[in-house]
Amino acid sequence: MNSDVIFQWLGTAGFRIEHSGKVVLIDPFFSRNENSTPTLNLKPADMSDADHIFVSHGHFDHIADVPEIVGLSSADVWCSTVAADTLIKMDVPAGKINRLAGGESIDLETFTIDVVPTRHIRFDARLVLSTIPGILRERRLVKGLSHYQSGAVMIYTFDFEGLRVIHIGSLGLQPGDVAKLGLTEPKPDMLLLPVQGHTDICRRAALVTTAIRPRAVVPQHHDNFFPPISRVIDIEPFRKMVAELVPDCAYYEPVMSEKFTAAEVLERD
Ligand SMILES: [Zn+2]
Repeated sequence: MNSDVIFQWLGTAGFRIEHSGKVVLIDPFFSRNENSTPTLNLKPADMSDADHIFVSHGHFDHIADVPEIVGLSSADVWCSTVAADTLIKMDVPAGKINRLAGGESIDLETFTIDVVPTRHIRFDARLVLSTIPGILRERRLVKGLSHYQSGAVMIYTFDFEGLRVIHIGSLGLQPGDVAKLGLTEPKPDMLLLPVQGHTDICRRAALVTTAIRPRAVVPQHHDNFFPPISRVIDIEPFRKMVAELVPDCAYYEPVMSEKFTAAEVLERD
């Protein structure tokens, strides 16, 4: 197992992964608004060494900065057709985009990726109702964001020379989706799991962790990246439920923008 892979959580569902001289970005998003917390001191120009960008789905907080990074780097993009259409409208050259339907197994020489399509989480009424007053107050901040259509949410399972990492960008898994991940022994090493988008998100995230049973789970997307659309999520209930339901699963909470290695994540395993 290759534990030298270096990760950096970019806030939201965004990650930068360095492995074997290549830089992989997933859902890189830097255009947080002025009220976001914590502050992210990184920008698209810091990602000019990117080789590949994987987009989980087409919402603004997963895709909005991809055009700028493509312009600054030699990176190609992998995403759903819906996300691809959005990127083309944003002037990303079609030749840079690889459209995914879901179900693909891709070999990029230094690592492989399996793609499983799922859906975006359905925001519950309580969450939506509690967000409306803020949106009405801050119309200026949220203008135009609804143009970013989600499309399918692609779950990516990366295999970095034996280190298997699953990234999920929105927690709308349907019954049967976990089976499609083809989880055979040994267990996946790391599950990068979003904890945002539902009043009951901690319990949902814990149940997905229980179903996937990774060696380690890494919570993400719980930062307050774009208030009033986002909020700070208290993920402590998630940590406790994982400890109770999947006691053999390590729990690693990354600090936004700080690098960490797979070895650090897995050392408690
Ligand atoms: Zn998101």
